[in-house]
Amino acid sequence: MGGYAALFTSKDFDFEGRKFSPTPLIISPLLLRTCSCPLFCGACCKPVTLDYLPTETYPQEAQPRGIVVNEIKKIVYSVIQNEKQLFCKNLSTTGQCNIYSTRPLLCRLAPLVGRITKTDIKTVSVTKAGRLRLAITGERKLPCIISEISEANVMHINALLSHLQQWMCYFEIDSKIPRIQELLTYLYDDKKLYKLYIDNEMNYTRTFYGTRK
Ligand code: SF4
Ligand code: SF4
Repeated sequence: MGGYAALFTSKDFDFEGRKFSPTPLIISPLLLRTCSCPLFCGACCKPVTLDYLPTETYPQEAQPRGIVVNEIKKIVYSVIQNEKQLFCKNLSTTGQCNIYSTRPLLCRLAPLVGRITKTDIKTVSVTKAGRLRLAITGERKLPCIISEISEANVMHINALLSHLQQWMCYFEIDSKIPRIQELLTYLYDDKKLYKLYIDNEMNYTRTFYGTRK
C-alpha cells in the first residue's frame, strides 16, 4: 500500500523509514473503463502480501502486523505469502479468486494501475501480467474484458477511491483523493475524452485525449 500512499499524498510523509513527497499527477480517461476477467486467466494474481485494516473482514489466518508511518505504528492484518510461488494461494484452478468477496483492497485497485500516474503514458502497461500469462498458457494476448465508459463505472471508481481514502485516513496521510473524486466527471464530456493534470496545489488542467465510441 506504500506505493499508493506515495502516489496520492498531498504532504511529505515517512512510510517504514522511506520518505515520500507529493508529485503532480496525470489521470487518464482510461480510468473510467473498468476491467473484468474471463475464466482461466489469473495472471495478475501474484503471491503478494494481503493486508487488511482492523475494521475490514480479513481471513482467519491473517496476523497483526505493525507498519510505521510518520513514527506512529499502525496495525494491519496480513496474510504473508511465499514469494517463490507462481500464484496467490487464493487463486483457484479456474483462475478465480477463492476469497473474492473479502479480497483485500490491493486486489481491488487494479483499475487504478497505470491510469493515475506521475508520468505521461497513453496506454495501460500490462507487461508484467502479459509475461506471466505467456508463461502460464503460452498465449501472448491478454484476455481482459475492458468495459466502455459509463456512469456506473464512474460510481465504481469513486467507491474504490473512497476505500483507498479510508486507508490514507487510517495512516493519517494527507491525500489528493477527495480532489480527484471531484474531478472524475471532467474526464469526459459528451463524446470527448480528456486527460487531467493535477499539480501539488490541486489545481487541474485538462487536454483533449480522444473521442469516445
Ligand atoms: S486474493 Fe484473490 S484477487 Fe487477490 S491476488 Fe489472491 S486470488 Fe487474486
Ligand atoms: S491479465 Fe487481465 S484477465 Fe488476466 S487476471 Fe489480469 S486483468 Fe484479469
